[in-house]
Amino acid sequence: MKPAPFVYHAPTSLEKAVQLLDELEGDVKITAGGQSLLPMMNLRIARPDHLVDLRFLDSLSGVKLTDTHLVVGATTTHRTIETSPVVRRVAPLLSEMASNIGHIPIRERGTIGGSVSLADPTAEFPLASVMLDAEMTLSSVRGTRTVKADQFFHSALQTELAEDEILTSLAFPLADRHSGSAFMEFSRRKGDFCIVGVAALVSVRDGRFDTARIGLCGVSDRPFLSKVAEQLSGEPANEATMTRIADAISAEIEPMTDGRAEIADRRDIARALIKRTLPLAHERAFVAAQGGSQ
Ligand SMILES: Cc1cc2nc3c(=O)[nH]c(=O)nc-3n(C[C@H](O)[C@H](O)[C@H](O)COP(=O)(O)OP(=O)(O)OC[C@H]3O[C@@H](n4cnc5c(N)ncnc54)[C@H](O)[C@@H]3O)c2cc1C
Repeated sequence: MKPAPFVYHAPTSLEKAVQLLDELEGDVKITAGGQSLLPMMNLRIARPDHLVDLRFLDSLSGVKLTDTHLVVGATTTHRTIETSPVVRRVAPLLSEMASNIGHIPIRERGTIGGSVSLADPTAEFPLASVMLDAEMTLSSVRGTRTVKADQFFHSALQTELAEDEILTSLAFPLADRHSGSAFMEFSRRKGDFCIVGVAALVSVRDGRFDTARIGLCGVSDRPFLSKVAEQLSGEPANEATMTRIADAISAEIEPMTDGRAEIADRRDIARALIKRTLPLAHERAFVAAQGGSQ
């Protein structure tokens, strides 16, 4: 199918883009990679009157390292994030999660800003942004504001973004160099949105967990950060601890069913994924603590 008629706008500056969002009347939609919105338009689930394309705003694309943060422009593609040596070095969890999104042609076009703005509860980047404490920058004619990732996601497909706002960048605080991370997901076919995904980020000291964060996608209406995982701090980093925490987190989550997997199946998948993800993150943290890299 083809989309319903719309007026296409290709601003070349952020000022012009926010001005368009302020002035245009009717249903005005932003597009970046078009990998979610354009299929919805083709199916006529979305029928915007105006489409504001962000792809020509050079200032919104690319990866920058500051003393304290990794700053990723909103129109940076999944593939750039997956393959960037800088991202791999300072935020390996982000590049590992990027590599699990769809297929390469989707990753070549889809953008991190589009993914977090869409806020699909099974998507990788919303979970990555919460796991890594990202700070989102939002711009409109009214000015610029920043929102922490844990405040950004309201529910499935609902975010803090107002209709006239553009997400311009995500700033990730640089992680402890001695931490290790891992991400694994379960999907019916490679490249599908996952049913459940698990991310783990830990640091170890003297054979014990020092810090630990475990997050899941596909088990809630937004990225889920486990409170139970905080109990890992100070616990011996062995198989018994990791099995106990996997059982506890699978009881902590309150998954929904969406026709793809039943609630009990999601708990089982979450438990199985935690049992694999956590030891891998631990192993990587151990290597990092010895002076190696993940
Ligand atoms: C076959 C297939 C498989 C896929 N598999 C996965 C998967 O496994 N995991 C996954 O996470 N995604 C998957 N996707 C979705 C893909 O990652 C999309 O690229 C992503 O969800 C949206 O990014 P986009 O840049 O294409 O955004 P668009 O489609 O252009 O826009 C998506 C939404 O975000 C809004 N938006 C975009 N950019 C901004 C911005 N900067 N500020 C404010 N609002 C903005 C748009 O208005 C729109 O509502 C898949 C897509 C396909 C077609």
